[in-house]
Amino acid sequence: MKINIAKSSGFCFGVKRAIDLSKDLADGEKAVYVLGDIVHNSFVVRELEEKGIKKIQRIRPAKNAILIIRAHGAPQVTFDKASASGYKIEDATCPMVKDIYKIAQKLEKDHKIIIIGDNNHDEVKGIAGQLKKKPITIESPRDISREKLGHIKKAAVVTQSTQTIENINNIMQRLVKIIPDVELYDTTCRTTKVKQEEINSLPKENDLILIIGSKTSANTKRLYQISKSINDKTHWIECAKNLKPIWFKNIKKVGIMAGASTPDYITKEIVKQLRNIAP
Ligand code: SF4
Repeated sequence: MKINIAKSSGFCFGVKRAIDLSKDLADGEKAVYVLGDIVHNSFVVRELEEKGIKKIQRIRPAKNAILIIRAHGAPQVTFDKASASGYKIEDATCPMVKDIYKIAQKLEKDHKIIIIGDNNHDEVKGIAGQLKKKPITIESPRDISREKLGHIKKAAVVTQSTQTIENINNIMQRLVKIIPDVELYDTTCRTTKVKQEEINSLPKENDLILIIGSKTSANTKRLYQISKSINDKTHWIECAKNLKPIWFKNIKKVGIMAGASTPDYITKEIVKQLRNIAP
């Protein structure tokens, strides 16, 4: 069985940067905390916990402690609260997410800001929470109605960094019919675009596709959805334990794509296991 690993498989720049920063801080003198998961991958979270980085759900008063802001970023209120509670802040927000803040902050002066993204995702909450005026979040064309958006005259649309081109286009096609002056600022990050390009061809070139990543990872979910729509033999797994030998009966070529927060060692373990299943 031939195994083809996508060139863009695995960590993106922003995730790698946040993990490296966290590991450096874990070696220091101060107690290190992170609000929620540093990135959306349970193996990475566990590894950092073992190094002494503590996950917290709420900001409480602290002394001599560091709070890491995750790669996905955070609302301004989180930064303010952490400073007021005594934390030294180490900001691991991906620079590409910060670019979205800058674009939206500049445009909100004379536009209604619309974010194309997942309502409950930390990155989207971070973008919304960095603005002075409340933006509108749209997940899919189904969220668009004249009743909801008909009063808007001028809008600027930014996109969560992991959005698909297809979803953005479908939403924009509907928005232009309702809002007289609406402009798209496609802020999907370059790494995401490269991954999405590859996942559009990989399922056509292979008999079966494995998408690797945590179920909480937004970019992994999108990779899975694209691949599944092209090749029904697409499986989303978190680690080698999830592999089922029956999937590989009569399969000659397997394509692998790991999400942006999946460590390489997980992919290596899966490849090793595949060699055992079908040498
Ligand atoms: S997916 Fe893109 S924007 Fe998000 S952390 Fe990775 S590089 Fe940054």
